Amino acid sequence: MTNLTVSNNLVVGLEYTLRLDDGEVIDASDSNAPLEYLHGHGQLIPGLERELHGMSVGDKKTVTVAPEDGYGEYDEDAFEAVPLSAFPDGIELSPGLELHMRDSATGHIIQAFVAEVTDDTVILDLNHPLAGEALTFDVKIASLRKATQEELEHGHVHSEGGHHH
Ligand SMILES: [Zn+2]
Repeated sequence: MTNLTVSNNLVVGLEYTLRLDDGEVIDASDSNAPLEYLHGHGQLIPGLERELHGMSVGDKKTVTVAPEDGYGEYDEDAFEAVPLSAFPDGIELSPGLELHMRDSATGHIIQAFVAEVTDDTVILDLNHPLAGEALTFDVKIASLRKATQEELEHGHVHSEGGHHH
């Protein structure tokens, strides 16, 4: 047995269920395959990662994360109008469609949702779909191990089938 506790640069196997305020379960780890992540590298939302720190294998906890420590408050101004002509032909643009675009300033991939389509303009909602939500996680630490040098250099876990370059 290991006496490791969750700390930076460990690979954590996490079983979790994610509920919203109204009790609706919106996400959960696969029962056969816990989520593996590299602790301390910003792979989880900050409010959850902080609460997991120091837990041991087998420990369980319920964590409620406020929007500011999760996916942010819902921003009424986080909408952007893009000319319809900027989209490739053949994309069926309808409200709710999820898009991934490269931010020209930072190079980061950003997620957006189509809010409205007019004759010549597409209105995009740049809020994360879980913005403004308090998130309750039931978590259990399933495994802990030291990360390999390669994983530390990449800042993510290399698990079987779980990672692509
Ligand atoms: Zn890698």
